[in-house]
Amino acid sequence: MRKQIVAGNWKMNLDATQSKELIDALKAQTFNAGVHVAIATPYVHLAAAVDQTAGTSIDVAAQNMHQAASGAYTGEVSAAMLEGIGVKTVILGHSERRAYFHETDALLAEKVNAALENDMHVIFCFGEELEDRKSEAHFDLVSSQLTNGLFHLNASQWARITLAYEPVWAIGTGETASPAQAQEMHAHIRAVLAAKYEDALAQSVSVLYGGSVKPTNAKEIFAQPDVDGGLIGGASLKAEDFAAIVNAF
Ligand code: PGA
Repeated sequence: MRKQIVAGNWKMNLDATQSKELIDALKAQTFNAGVHVAIATPYVHLAAAVDQTAGTSIDVAAQNMHQAASGAYTGEVSAAMLEGIGVKTVILGHSERRAYFHETDALLAEKVNAALENDMHVIFCFGEELEDRKSEAHFDLVSSQLTNGLFHLNASQWARITLAYEPVWAIGTGETASPAQAQEMHAHIRAVLAAKYEDALAQSVSVLYGGSVKPTNAKEIFAQPDVDGGLIGGASLKAEDFAAIVNAF
């Protein structure tokens, strides 16, 4: 059975005090034990979050990292640095990174390699913009994001990859893909994986949906057969909402 995962992407929100308060509030929640729960805090809170969640089932993830091991890259953070403070998961390819920081599929392929070389898990994000969907290019676009970002990996490396399909038009907009639209794309993603690798691998990879998931819509999205969880932005900043989403499985 595929792992069910709900990850909170805090983005550039919350100061140190607020981060501590939110983690305390999350620790007071009861989460569905079958679901793997992760929170991706800003870099500066990661070490404290790792300490604060020690002994709990909450995994702490980074929202990004640099592809190089070390060097003259002012302002950047490497996989080894994350791994060294106990961060075992990194989100790569978020649409905000692609749009505002010009991250390309080729760059993301390098980042994926660096994360895997440091034994980290990757939540790899991708998804189409509204124009792609309107021009019916969304399936091809998603296929090319997967091909260029991930299809250099060998089958065994996929054990450390989680996919997060996030239609850009649904992120932070309050507009969600319908459960049918999510299922249709997730089935496409699995078919593309099966064609490149094997069906068994395609069936083993968790594919999360992201884009305005809320307590009110999580249940019907997670009920889709090829949706294995969610990457949650806005609603991950409130402990009760995040727990309600985790418990929507
Ligand atoms: P949202 O963000 O839930 O606020 O739409 C999702 C994401 O960006 O991962």
